[in-house]
Amino acid sequence: MKMNKLVMATNNANKLREAREILSPLGLEVLSLSEIGIDCDPDENGTTFEDNAEIKARAIFNAIAEKYGENTAVFADDSGLCVDALGGRPGVHSARYAPKGQECEKLLGEMEGVADEKRTARFVCSIVYLDEAGKSFGARGTCEGKIGYEQRGSNGFGYDPVFMVGDKTMAELSADEKNAISHRGAAMRELCRLLKERYGE
Ligand code: IMP
Repeated sequence: MKMNKLVMATNNANKLREAREILSPLGLEVLSLSEIGIDCDPDENGTTFEDNAEIKARAIFNAIAEKYGENTAVFADDSGLCVDALGGRPGVHSARYAPKGQECEKLLGEMEGVADEKRTARFVCSIVYLDEAGKSFGARGTCEGKIGYEQRGSNGFGYDPVFMVGDKTMAELSADEKNAISHRGAAMRELCRLLKERYGE
């Protein structure tokens, strides 16, 4: 593999750990934004997860080029929860749907009276990768589930306590159990497959 360093557009420790676990077998070193001294938080005003991931990836790519005078491969992810009974909301607005820590309560309120079979939902994660030349390609992962009737479990974050996978909420799963089925895990594994295909092992 020619390239051996790439920057992930995050400082989130869990996302980094998962990316490193998945990409290190390819001989890739994944660096966070703070590790390369870049502080960049662009306005994610796209209408799709793909748009927002691309906005983030481009902003980081340009910030690195400006600071170091050279290009580095980067990738960014954007994710959220799409609820069928709400026409796909909160979708790209998942992070802004309610004040942090109140998203589950608000969602349960909106889902009051919705019948069991209509409570289907999915987590979606889009990753956009930019190579050193700035050419992009994307990977996407989804995780199907249902919105429960109450909050359960204390692991995870965001909507995990109300997102049911089988008879457990995502917040009742361990980190490893969640990574094995999560939208982000699926998108990361897809990215890994695409990079392998492209650069060889
Ligand atoms: P981000 O793209 O990782 O910043 O996620 C956007 C928002 O989607 C988060 O603030 C959460 O509200 C929600 N979200 C994304 N992934 C998950 C997850 O795995 N569990 C619970 N909520 C999530």
